[in-house]
Amino acid sequence: ITFLVVGCTGKEVKETSQKKDMKLITDEEKPYIGFLIDTLKEERWYKDKALFEEQVKSLGGEVKTLAANGLDDVQIKQAELLIGEGVDVLVVVPHDATISAKIVEMAHEAGIKVISYDRLIKDADVDYYISFDNEKVGELQASEILKKTSSGNFAYIGGSESDNNAILFRQGAMKVLQPQIDSGKIKLVYDEYTEEWKPDVAKSNMKNALSKNGNKIDAVIAANDGTAGGVIESLASVGLAGKVPVSGQDAELEGVRRIVKGVQTMTVYKSINQLATESAELAVKVAKSEEVKTEKTINNGKSDIPSIFLEPIAITQDNIRDTIIKDGYLTEEEIYK
Ligand code: BGC
Repeated sequence: ITFLVVGCTGKEVKETSQKKDMKLITDEEKPYIGFLIDTLKEERWYKDKALFEEQVKSLGGEVKTLAANGLDDVQIKQAELLIGEGVDVLVVVPHDATISAKIVEMAHEAGIKVISYDRLIKDADVDYYISFDNEKVGELQASEILKKTSSGNFAYIGGSESDNNAILFRQGAMKVLQPQIDSGKIKLVYDEYTEEWKPDVAKSNMKNALSKNGNKIDAVIAANDGTAGGVIESLASVGLAGKVPVSGQDAELEGVRRIVKGVQTMTVYKSINQLATESAELAVKVAKSEEVKTEKTINNGKSDIPSIFLEPIAITQDNIRDTIIKDGYLTEEEIYK
C-alpha cells in the first residue's frame, strides 16, 4: 500500500515519519525548493516565477516562491520563514548583493544550500550561481548603439547600484565605449545609476542629462527596458524620441513595441525559459544532495562560486521574429497589434 500525504513539505513531516520508520511515499521525498525573488516590478520576474515553479514541479519537486517587494529586511524574514519550513535548497534573487550574504549564512547554519539566481550574492559562500553573461549584456547594448551613432555626447543610465548585475552591465558597456572615449570620438557626458531600477528615476536622470547639455545628447545606453522607458519619455518631451538611439534589456513587451515603433534601438533578450529550466534542474539536484560540476566560476569577493552562464542576445527590428517570437517569449499579435 502506498500513502500519499498531500500538502506537507516541512521538516516535521520528515522527522515524524522517520521516527515511525514507515515506508511511506510522502512529500518528504519530494525535493522542497524555496524561491526568494526580490521584486515582481519588471515583467520578466513573473516569467521567472511561473517557469521556475512549473519546471520544479515537472521534476517532481515542490516549490514556494516569495517576493520581497524590494525590501532587504522582508527578504531576510522570508528566508527565515522558508528555512524554518525545512526547504532543501534556497534559490535567491537578492535585492541587495551584500546584505543578502546574511541569507546564505542563515541557510548554511541550517544545513541548506543556496543558489544565487540571475543576480550574484556577494561576500558569502554561495553554493552555486546561475545567470546570463551579464558583462556581455552591457557589451551588446553599447555595440548596437555604436552601430547607430559612433560619436558625440553619450549618456549612461544604469541600473540599481545595489544589484551586482548593474555593475556588470556598466562594465561591459564601458569595455566597448572606452576606446572611443579615449580617442575623443565619444564624450561620456552623463553617467548615473538608477535607484531601485525605477523608470521614474531614469526619467529624471535623463532630464538632467539633457538640461546639463543643452539637449545635445547623441546616444543613451539605458540598462534595461524599464529605465529605457523613462529615458524615452524625457527624450519625447524635448522632441528627441526616435532621434537619439537608446538601448534596453529584457525584451519586455513595451520595450519591443518601442523598437518596432522606432523610438528604442535595441533590447537584450535573455531566455527566461532557459534560465528557469536550468535553475530548476540544478536546484532539484542540489536538493537531492547530488554533486553538480560547473565549468565556470565567478569570484564574489569571498570565494570562487561554481557558476553557469547563459547567452544573452541583442534584439533589433531585424530579428524579433527569429528570436523572441520563435521562442514564444512574446507573440506576434501582442507585439505588432
Ligand atoms: C536583471 C534584469 C532586470 C533588472 C531589474 C537585473 O538584475 O538581470 O533583467 O531588468 O534586474 O529587475
